[in-house]
Amino acid sequence: MIDERTTRLEMSRLCKSLFDRGFSVGTAGNVSVRLPDGMLMTPTNVRLGDLEPERISKLDANGTHVGGDAPTKEVFLHQAMLDTLPEAGAVVHLHSTWATALSCLSDTNTDDCVPPLTPYVVMRVGPVKLLPYVKPGDPRMGDMIRALNGQFSAVLLGNHGPVVAGKTLASAVAAAEELEETCKLLIALRGLPMRMLSSDNVAELNATFGRI
Ligand code: ZN
Repeated sequence: MIDERTTRLEMSRLCKSLFDRGFSVGTAGNVSVRLPDGMLMTPTNVRLGDLEPERISKLDANGTHVGGDAPTKEVFLHQAMLDTLPEAGAVVHLHSTWATALSCLSDTNTDDCVPPLTPYVVMRVGPVKLLPYVKPGDPRMGDMIRALNGQFSAVLLGNHGPVVAGKTLASAVAAAEELEETCKLLIALRGLPMRMLSSDNVAELNATFGRI
């Protein structure tokens, strides 16, 4: 079991990495990690590049703020993902450009808005659900995620951005990066005759690798 201090340091390091590479700008984006006695969450109005480990918000298992700075106002979506995905250890929410661009398109399949273009999006992200727009911090965001009953480890919030869960913080970050790059490819290829992986290809990947 990794101790809380180590988790706080890893959150700061990986969030800074996301920020430094442009996956998050301004104070956009927030990250949560499950703990044995609750969860850690990035504070509200802080740049992901400037997280101070000891000021990261701590919430107990009921979602009550018990330490550090006040948590992100998007706390509902993190709680809903962690509650409905028991195997998930962390959740990354970004406003990264290409995934957010895809979340603004009106002609996507909302039940599978990121089709299997490459093996790594299948292996790391899986199917992605596009949810309707609600304002940031609206508790209905959590309700909509809970209604999915853990069927999706990644969702796109309409006109807002991606939310991606992973077994560990490192795998959630890697999945968020893979999703962003895949959305970039999908938009770059729009209007061109795309060849997706077949359902047999996807089944083979799922049988061989599961969700890494
Ligand atoms: Zn957001």
